Amino acid sequence: MAKKTTAKKIRVDKAEAAERVKKIWPVLKKTYPRAKTALNFANPLELLISTILSAQCTDVRVNMVTKDLFKKYKSAEDWAKADIKQVESDIKSTGFYRNKAINIKGACTEIIDRFGGKVPDAMERLLQLPGVGRKTANVVLGNAFGRPAIACDTHVIRLSRRIGLSLNSDAVKLEFDLAEIVPQKNWTLFSHLLIFHGRNICKARKPDCENCPISTYCPAANNPALW
Ligand code: SF4
Repeated sequence: MAKKTTAKKIRVDKAEAAERVKKIWPVLKKTYPRAKTALNFANPLELLISTILSAQCTDVRVNMVTKDLFKKYKSAEDWAKADIKQVESDIKSTGFYRNKAINIKGACTEIIDRFGGKVPDAMERLLQLPGVGRKTANVVLGNAFGRPAIACDTHVIRLSRRIGLSLNSDAVKLEFDLAEIVPQKNWTLFSHLLIFHGRNICKARKPDCENCPISTYCPAANNPALW
């Protein structure tokens, strides 16, 4: 009788995972040729604000809000000087608006006081801004500054486990696992490709394995025990 396989029993071998990355990379690139961040932005500050707003909110909603917001607040000074109640009201529809307003104003104040009014382009400095963790910092580094950066969101975590790239569900640990098996020059695009695949085919509740172009390489294909 075949042994029942459970997610807990799966072990990820780094060399095998790196091989799997090599196999799925060209397929995902061909499948999602326009994979990039869904957030609209014109400069690093706008992307930083959008990413803070995107916590527990859809990118579509954030883009709707920032369309007018970025006409009103154009610089770090504009945000830092703004009345907190007004900022809360302006971003309310993105949810968790009180914390987000505090973080945005705090981050912009730090940007002015410590970084000459410009969003810093290095991880260790970005992490000094209120409300900015590694995921937000990686989004900004990878998309606004063109640096290799792996942003681990919920899709990246889910797909990495299913595809057998890492079993870490902690975003920071997963980022370091992926950094070991994905070539550095591909880091930013690789996370976009996983996000696109997670949104389109490998969905949280019901992955569409039948129509998945990487099913040949995926240990979780058609195996609900591993979803
Ligand atoms: S085969 Fe299924 S579980 Fe694996 S990546 Fe594709 S959709 Fe996801």
